[in-house]
Amino acid sequence: MSTETNCIFCKIIQGDIPGAKVYEDEHVLAFLDISQVTKGHTLIIPKQHEENVFELSEETARNLFASVPKVANALNETFQPKGLNILNNNGEFAGQSVFHYHLHLLPRYSEEDGFD
Ligand code: 5GP
Ligand code: ZN
Repeated sequence: MSTETNCIFCKIIQGDIPGAKVYEDEHVLAFLDISQVTKGHTLIIPKQHEENVFELSEETARNLFASVPKVANALNETFQPKGLNILNNNGEFAGQSVFHYHLHLLPRYSEEDGFD
Protein backbone atom coordinates (compact mmCIF):
# COMPACT_ATOMS: atom_id res chain seq x y z
CA MET A 1 0.00 0.00 0.00
CA SER A 2 1.41 3.42 -0.80
CA THR A 3 1.34 5.99 1.99
CA GLU A 4 2.20 9.69 2.35
CA THR A 5 4.47 10.82 5.17
CA ASN A 6 2.53 13.97 5.97
CA CYS A 7 -0.97 12.52 5.65
CA ILE A 8 -2.96 12.32 8.88
CA PHE A 9 -5.11 9.44 7.58
CA CYS A 10 -2.03 7.43 6.54
CA LYS A 11 -0.79 7.93 10.12
CA ILE A 12 -4.10 6.56 11.47
CA ILE A 13 -3.78 3.50 9.16
CA GLN A 14 -0.23 2.92 10.42
CA GLY A 15 -1.34 3.29 14.05
CA ASP A 16 0.91 6.33 14.59
CA ILE A 17 -2.07 8.37 15.74
CA PRO A 18 -5.19 6.87 17.32
CA GLY A 19 -8.49 6.32 15.57
CA ALA A 20 -11.69 4.77 16.97
CA LYS A 21 -12.04 1.83 14.61
CA VAL A 22 -15.48 0.84 13.28
CA TYR A 23 -14.38 -1.64 10.59
CA GLU A 24 -11.18 -2.83 8.94
CA ASP A 25 -10.22 -5.22 6.18
CA GLU A 26 -7.24 -5.68 3.87
CA HIS A 27 -8.13 -2.64 1.79
CA VAL A 28 -10.01 -0.14 3.95
CA LEU A 29 -10.29 1.34 7.42
CA ALA A 30 -13.42 2.93 8.91
CA PHE A 31 -13.15 5.06 12.06
CA LEU A 32 -15.16 7.69 13.91
CA ASP A 33 -14.67 11.28 12.74
CA ILE A 34 -12.94 13.35 15.42
CA SER A 35 -15.64 15.99 14.98
CA GLN A 36 -18.99 14.17 15.20
CA VAL A 37 -21.57 15.97 13.04
CA THR A 38 -24.09 13.31 14.12
CA LYS A 39 -23.68 10.45 16.58
CA GLY A 40 -21.61 7.73 14.88
CA HIS A 41 -20.22 10.01 12.12
CA THR A 42 -17.70 7.70 10.44
CA LEU A 43 -15.06 8.01 7.74
CA ILE A 44 -14.15 5.16 5.39
CA ILE A 45 -10.73 5.44 3.79
CA PRO A 46 -8.74 3.23 1.41
CA LYS A 47 -5.41 2.00 2.82
CA GLN A 48 -3.88 3.10 -0.47
CA HIS A 49 -3.20 6.86 -0.36
CA GLU A 50 -5.12 8.50 -3.21
CA GLU A 51 -5.99 12.17 -2.90
CA ASN A 52 -9.56 12.43 -4.13
CA VAL A 53 -12.01 11.13 -6.72
CA PHE A 54 -9.91 12.54 -9.56
CA GLU A 55 -7.03 10.25 -8.52
CA LEU A 56 -9.03 7.27 -7.37
CA SER A 57 -8.14 4.05 -9.21
CA GLU A 58 -10.87 1.66 -10.27
CA GLU A 59 -9.50 -1.04 -7.99
CA THR A 60 -9.41 1.26 -4.97
CA ALA A 61 -12.94 2.46 -5.72
CA ARG A 62 -14.19 -1.13 -6.00
CA ASN A 63 -12.59 -2.19 -2.71
CA LEU A 64 -13.80 0.92 -0.92
CA PHE A 65 -17.40 0.71 -2.10
CA ALA A 66 -17.52 -3.02 -1.36
CA SER A 67 -17.04 -2.11 2.30
CA VAL A 68 -19.83 0.48 2.46
CA PRO A 69 -22.75 -1.88 3.27
CA LYS A 70 -20.64 -3.61 5.94
CA VAL A 71 -19.79 -0.33 7.65
CA ALA A 72 -23.38 0.94 7.29
CA ASN A 73 -24.71 -2.22 8.94
CA ALA A 74 -22.13 -1.99 11.73
CA LEU A 75 -23.32 1.59 12.39
CA ASN A 76 -26.95 0.42 12.37
CA GLU A 77 -26.18 -2.19 14.99
CA THR A 78 -24.25 0.17 17.25
CA PHE A 79 -26.24 3.39 16.95
CA GLN A 80 -29.69 2.37 15.62
CA PRO A 81 -30.13 5.46 13.41
CA LYS A 82 -33.26 6.02 11.32
CA GLY A 83 -31.26 6.74 8.13
CA LEU A 84 -27.79 7.37 6.76
CA ASN A 85 -26.20 10.02 4.52
CA ILE A 86 -23.04 9.21 2.54
CA LEU A 87 -21.01 12.24 1.45
CA ASN A 88 -17.67 12.90 -0.21
CA ASN A 89 -15.83 16.21 -0.73
CA ASN A 90 -13.31 16.51 -3.58
CA GLY A 91 -10.93 19.46 -3.71
CA GLU A 92 -10.47 22.47 -1.48
CA PHE A 93 -13.31 24.37 -3.14
CA ALA A 94 -15.68 21.49 -2.45
CA GLY A 95 -14.78 21.50 1.25
CA GLN A 96 -12.12 18.78 1.28
CA SER A 97 -9.73 19.37 4.16
CA VAL A 98 -7.89 16.04 4.33
CA PHE A 99 -6.40 15.04 0.99
CA HIS A 100 -6.69 11.28 1.37
CA TYR A 101 -9.90 10.01 -0.24
CA HIS A 102 -12.71 9.39 2.25
CA LEU A 103 -16.43 8.87 2.49
CA HIS A 104 -18.41 10.44 5.32
CA LEU A 105 -21.14 8.21 6.75
CA LEU A 106 -23.62 10.27 8.73
CA PRO A 107 -26.20 8.34 10.73
CA ARG A 108 -29.48 10.30 10.97
CA TYR A 109 -31.99 10.26 13.81
CA SER A 110 -35.55 11.36 14.35
CA GLU A 111 -36.56 14.48 16.29
CA GLU A 112 -37.50 12.28 19.27
CA ASP A 113 -33.98 10.87 19.19
CA GLY A 114 -32.68 14.42 19.62
CA PHE A 115 -31.35 15.02 16.09
CA ASP A 116 -27.89 13.69 16.91
P1 5GP B 1 -13.22 16.61 4.65
O1 5GP B 1 -13.46 18.02 5.14
O2 5GP B 1 -11.85 16.49 4.02
O3 5GP B 1 -14.31 16.05 3.79
O4 5GP B 1 -13.25 15.70 5.94
C1 5GP B 1 -12.15 15.49 6.77
C2 5GP B 1 -12.68 14.98 8.06
O5 5GP B 1 -11.61 14.44 8.78
C3 5GP B 1 -13.31 16.07 8.96
O6 5GP B 1 -14.67 15.74 9.20
C4 5GP B 1 -12.46 16.03 10.23
O7 5GP B 1 -13.21 16.20 11.40
C5 5GP B 1 -11.82 14.66 10.16
N1 5GP B 1 -10.52 14.57 10.80
C6 5GP B 1 -9.46 15.44 10.63
N2 5GP B 1 -8.42 15.04 11.37
C7 5GP B 1 -8.81 13.91 12.02
C8 5GP B 1 -8.15 13.03 12.95
O8 5GP B 1 -6.99 13.20 13.32
N3 5GP B 1 -8.86 11.98 13.40
C9 5GP B 1 -10.15 11.73 13.00
N4 5GP B 1 -10.75 10.66 13.53
N5 5GP B 1 -10.80 12.53 12.14
C10 5GP B 1 -10.14 13.60 11.65
ZN1 ZN C 1 -2.92 9.28 3.17
